[in-house]
Amino acid sequence: MKQIPMLDLQLEYQYMKTDIDTAIKKCLDHQKWILGPEVKELEDTIAKFLGVKHCIGASSGTEALVLSLRALAIKLKGQEYFDETDEIITTPFTFTATGDAILRAGATPIFVDIDPATYNINPIKTREYLTQNLKHKTQNSSNIVGIIPVHLYGQSCNMDEIMKIAREYNLFVLEDVAQAFGGTWNGPTVPAVGLSKGSRQKLGSFGTTGAFSFFPSKNLGGFGDGGMVSTNDDELAELMGMLLKHGGKDKYNVDHIGYNARLDTLQAAILLAKFKYIDEFNERRRKIAEIYNRELSNVSGIVLPVNCSTTQPDDKGTSRNHDGHVYHQYTIRILNKRRDALQKHLKEKGIDTMVYYPVPLHKMRVFDGRYKMNGDLTESEKAVREVLSLPMEPLMSEEAISCIIHTIKKFYHE
Ligand SMILES: *Cc1c(COP(=O)(O)O)cnc(C)c1O
Repeated sequence: MKQIPMLDLQLEYQYMKTDIDTAIKKCLDHQKWILGPEVKELEDTIAKFLGVKHCIGASSGTEALVLSLRALAIKLKGQEYFDETDEIITTPFTFTATGDAILRAGATPIFVDIDPATYNINPIKTREYLTQNLKHKTQNSSNIVGIIPVHLYGQSCNMDEIMKIAREYNLFVLEDVAQAFGGTWNGPTVPAVGLSKGSRQKLGSFGTTGAFSFFPSKNLGGFGDGGMVSTNDDELAELMGMLLKHGGKDKYNVDHIGYNARLDTLQAAILLAKFKYIDEFNERRRKIAEIYNRELSNVSGIVLPVNCSTTQPDDKGTSRNHDGHVYHQYTIRILNKRRDALQKHLKEKGIDTMVYYPVPLHKMRVFDGRYKMNGDLTESEKAVREVLSLPMEPLMSEEAISCIIHTIKKFYHE
């Protein structure tokens, strides 16, 4: 039986082999393994691509999140870390690292429920937390400092609403772009450098900072760990650059509690080679998503990802941004408690699927007693039981897509 994996990195390597091998060979020739020329070249290339002033390579997406928050603490508070009374709003329906970075930076995560249509943080609930908290604010009460929107599965959060809230309440915005390299949001209110108002704006260029991951399975992935931060703020860029090199401009005489969190030259070289294909690959993902959408649209019991290229943001603040979705994952919702049975059925037919994510952050032990939440988190708790991500390999054959669709339909019609 032929196996259909979630992703086929071997296939992608073969497709770009000449570019990647040449890039690696160049590194072998120059031997500049730490902050070699490829790191700067990748930073400049991605800064231009995003339309931001600064991009800085980091050792992972997780470190990119931590570097952002630490630099923000230093800039905003003049302290190495945030305090527990400093609150940072985010979604509980994300990868562990988003919330963990908040703890590592010394602050308290505030979990706000998701919009069930997009699985992204609900701006209305976010506003609800802010207004309620401000109403009850006493002198020693906590202080909401920022928000981390996560562009889950490659789909933009409603950045119009989030930036509006951030301006109203004077919050920083750290975009978690780990799953959405090249994704856009189509309603910019604050255009990025060099972009006119009204043009599509790249994710990672809206917030105070953006954090990217180049983990091998991400839509722009290296051959090991890697990440990047983006910002238009000169001071934050300088601080993040220092923190990732032990905390100083001179690593033998440092100013801050730093990390060794540089992006490897070798990873940068590989990523530069793969970057050439990112637009093509994101487009291939959209094409595959279109096929899934079309073929699965009449299967009752399945909720497809929102496909609303013709509608505008609705009154619930839901993002309706089909074109900017890069489908890092193609994720469907399986109703009537049949998710696990469908997953088992697909597995038996040789088709891999994944549940991103089986446990919401507020149910994890690491966050026990260390978080606060806005109201209930019902939609997040429902999503973990119902979501299923299907194989999304940009180079996947039409035959494989048909097989997946056929197998799902068969499950429902048996
Ligand atoms: C992958 C991921 C991260 C962490 O990136 P790493 O490079 O694995 O450290 C953070 N947030 C989200 C949403 C992710 O998907």
